[in-house]
Amino acid sequence: MKVLVIGGGAREHALCRSLSLDPDVTELHCAPGNAGIAQVARLHPVDQLDGAAVADLAAGLGAGLVVVGPEAPLVAGVADAVRDRGIPVFGPSREAALLEGSKAFAKDVMAAAGVPTARSYVCTTPEEAADALDAFGAPYVVKDDGLAAGKGVVVTSDLQEALAHAAACGRVVIEEFLDGPEVSLFAVTDGTTVVPLQPAQDFKRAHDGDEGPNTGGMGAYSPLPWAGPELVDEVLATVLQPTVDELRRRGTPFSGLLYAGLAITSRGVRVIEFNARFGDPETQVVLARLRTPLAGLLLAAATGRLDELEPLRWSDGAAVTVVVAAEGYPASPRSGDPVEGLAEAEAADGTAYVLHAGTRLGEDGAVLSAGGRVLSVTAVGEDLALARRRAYDAVARIRLAGSHHRTDIALRAAGGQDAGRDGRQDDGAR
Ligand code: AMP
Repeated sequence: MKVLVIGGGAREHALCRSLSLDPDVTELHCAPGNAGIAQVARLHPVDQLDGAAVADLAAGLGAGLVVVGPEAPLVAGVADAVRDRGIPVFGPSREAALLEGSKAFAKDVMAAAGVPTARSYVCTTPEEAADALDAFGAPYVVKDDGLAAGKGVVVTSDLQEALAHAAACGRVVIEEFLDGPEVSLFAVTDGTTVVPLQPAQDFKRAHDGDEGPNTGGMGAYSPLPWAGPELVDEVLATVLQPTVDELRRRGTPFSGLLYAGLAITSRGVRVIEFNARFGDPETQVVLARLRTPLAGLLLAAATGRLDELEPLRWSDGAAVTVVVAAEGYPASPRSGDPVEGLAEAEAADGTAYVLHAGTRLGEDGAVLSAGGRVLSVTAVGEDLALARRRAYDAVARIRLAGSHHRTDIALRAAGGQDAGRDGRQDDGAR
């Protein structure tokens, strides 16, 4: 099977890496890709938001499967354009991707499906916003209704800051604050059958101790030693399956990757948000542990045959990803610097490897930084402590002027079974 992956971050590098290890994949292509993906796939300089161009590329290559990585092409209808050509595509339609593209739509679907989530109001005027903030009290949670690349949410105890964010966004969702550790649970679905993957946790704040601004994600780990296996069953029954059923009932079936961002509160599991695609950086650790060949899984979802699939196989071990970010990330990342030590960072036995996020090849073939999050350094091991040590050993070998990374990814989870229970995060992001 020839496979085309759309996107160019570390998530797509992780997808391409796993696809390249699937014996059924005979050719692997990626558009636009990055310097790391170029090692495992042929790159094509196609605009990932241009559905017709992506469909032309897929048809020209004779692709048997197209995998759309990021949310922006999904919301732009790229999966529809490919599907209309009769080519199997892993990724929801534009209408179903609204589950991520509009927080208000997601809330409506959850209400109809009886999915537990934060109580909320959709507000379009400063007066409505002020009333809603008053109704819930501090800490305040204000979310831009539209896509904002992970930066549309403000959680603050400062009423003025909350009001200012609401005014700047226009249409916002204001909701109750959810306490408790966060979990990311992905599920592969064909619109009917839902196959959950293993849970992971990410770290959204820029600095150690969950300090600093929100980012796209600074690291992740899986499994979660503090969450029992019943968590996946519960989320499948109360969140994932009802949501997929509701979207099918509405005539806009969701096929692709349904990502539930969850808070494990004292009153039970609550959905913080849905995404319509693999999460970055959790994908890096989840795929590091998946033993079932990836192309077969994604093709089964794309062709409505997930019910025929054997149960997924997983490694018993752990995986940790540490993001190396450019100087100035997230506010104003600097780019164009050489990234060195990449070969030294990789372990010969495959237990540590470097996934590229924002990189490109310079004219002389050198790898240059080209984005805020530059690398996702990923390692596996028998347990979190070993995976963590290997990941940080690899990070220490990488040289990128001015770069920064968190030093506490999976630290508490690696240290004890209850790590996630006694605090808000890592337990994870905040
Ligand atoms: P989102 O873009 O919806 O994932 O929000 C980004 C981050 O804001 C989440 O990962 C949470 O850490 C935080 N957040 C979002 N909604 C809430 C909420 N209702 N209560 C507490 N924290 C939240």
